[in-house]
Amino acid sequence: MTLNQPKAARKTRPLTFASEIPTQKLSEFWSRLEKGELCASKCSKCGYTSFPPVADCPRCLNSEPKWVKLDGTGEIESFTRIAIKPASFAGQATYTVVLVKMKEGVRVLAWLNDAKPDDVKVGARVSLVTGISEYGPSYAFTLRPE
Ligand SMILES: [Zn+2]
Repeated sequence: MTLNQPKAARKTRPLTFASEIPTQKLSEFWSRLEKGELCASKCSKCGYTSFPPVADCPRCLNSEPKWVKLDGTGEIESFTRIAIKPASFAGQATYTVVLVKMKEGVRVLAWLNDAKPDDVKVGARVSLVTGISEYGPSYAFTLRPE
């Protein structure tokens, strides 16, 4: 871009793109998720547990994580309803994203499926659900009956 370019502009058609996310160091996470297990990484040296999982411990930089299968239950710590969606989710109905504190102490951010807006509250108990979408293994939460 030069300084002499005109400031007038025209909109293009919407652009879409997909990128590849390197998963080599965390392939165990993805293979376990394909089998329906959501795992956190736990440092084999200092014991620090991370979610999303990390290949290198943020505390001691050890690069040999162990895998901890999350029990799948937790409580909503925060949530938001997404009515004005990013372009990649433009075709979706309004959806809810929750931050859940899991039984193991880590926090997981994911969609909340099939919940009436009035039923979504901080402190509500949720269960993890896993599945395979057109983009690969995925996970979300559902409200647990009280
Ligand atoms: Zn560590």
